[in-house]
Amino acid sequence: MPLTLTSTVVSPRPLLFLPGPVCVADSVLQAMTRPLIDHRGPEFSRLLQSIEAQLQPIFGTAGSIFILGSSGTGGLESAVASLFSPGDRVLAAPVGVFGQRLVDMARTYGCRVDVMETKPGFAVDAQQLAERLKRDTARSIRGILLTHNETSTGVANDMRLLAEAIGEHPAYTVVDSVSGMGASDFRMHEWRLDAVITASQKVFAAPPGVAMVALSARAAQRAVAEQVPIFYFNLGKAKQFAELGQTPWTPPISTCFALDAALEAYHAQGAQIVWHRLASYASAIRAAAAALGLENFSQPGAHSNTVVAIKAPAGLDVAELLRGLREERGIVLSGGQKELKGAIFRIGTMGSISQTDVMAMLGALEIALWQQKLQVRSGAGVQAALQVFLEDDVAKLGDGSATDEQTDVQTMATPR
Ligand code: PLP
Repeated sequence: MPLTLTSTVVSPRPLLFLPGPVCVADSVLQAMTRPLIDHRGPEFSRLLQSIEAQLQPIFGTAGSIFILGSSGTGGLESAVASLFSPGDRVLAAPVGVFGQRLVDMARTYGCRVDVMETKPGFAVDAQQLAERLKRDTARSIRGILLTHNETSTGVANDMRLLAEAIGEHPAYTVVDSVSGMGASDFRMHEWRLDAVITASQKVFAAPPGVAMVALSARAAQRAVAEQVPIFYFNLGKAKQFAELGQTPWTPPISTCFALDAALEAYHAQGAQIVWHRLASYASAIRAAAAALGLENFSQPGAHSNTVVAIKAPAGLDVAELLRGLREERGIVLSGGQKELKGAIFRIGTMGSISQTDVMAMLGALEIALWQQKLQVRSGAGVQAALQVFLEDDVAKLGDGSATDEQTDVQTMATPR
């Protein structure tokens, strides 16, 4: 195996294997070029309705979902600021950087935050959460902060189990599902969650710029009733304007067009097909990493479908790996954050990417590893991924009624 496999042609269109933003389909990008409309007029009201109606089954709620002109963090901040008051006691169960961000946010708004610790790479222990809440006999905990999918470590929490652990506890439950929503079955109403937040640039594969905040009926009531120390991201105002078919402030209209088109594409494929594709890409990447002698950061039972975090083996310069892939191959992966910088690299599965793209990325990764003189078994990663795809029987989905067209979405060449 030569150590200098020079690429003389780099794809003009980068393949984003980031955990967001992601490759966006041409049809969705084209939606952004539509002429602008009056955001106080009937057309925009219809657009908002269409987005909400398409989001509701994905979130698993018939309740309101507010559209904010911001990235996911604005959505999270709006929920924390609207549901809690200074001095409120809040229990947080972070499993990485984004869970910690929720802790910091709640502290910024004056909450007293108790933090339930979890070892890196693991998901929240539902039993530990249940016991922690059981000890709160005075019901003094006003809020629970959870992360559905922790993008920094490639860990997914089982939200059904965590919701069962919370049971009848009256605290408002806020769930950051920025990189999880749409990637698996989610039942906000059934699981009695109060605020669930996502963003346009993740599973829905639209450009960044829109946060979505779904509220339970009691959370929406509180958001309107309470004087909260937040103006722009005030969910009470969002609710009042949503009733008029508007947003309080000028919305990112073009990104809303794109989000609407992306949601149409999501539903045209079918949610189960999307879940299956993401799970299949993630397990192919994990299998490839193992075959290349690399270790996964998330632990079995805690693996995310949307981002795979891989430990950097001794001798690997992650920054150089990412640079080489980006500049020489047009493939964009992501590094670790904060204390995991240099210790892991992350590969996203979301967006308009095909099986062929996944195998191309894995082949390029192997070359990049060789270039850093890491002895990996030649072709092992691509072969392991291919094996996962070959065994991946889309007909096993649901009731087995996947149509030919749906099957094509799973297996076809690049969908862009
Ligand atoms: N929460 C999670 C789990 C995320 O993955 C991200 C972004 O990657 C955020 C919050 C912050 O979202 P944004 O960068 O859209 O503000």
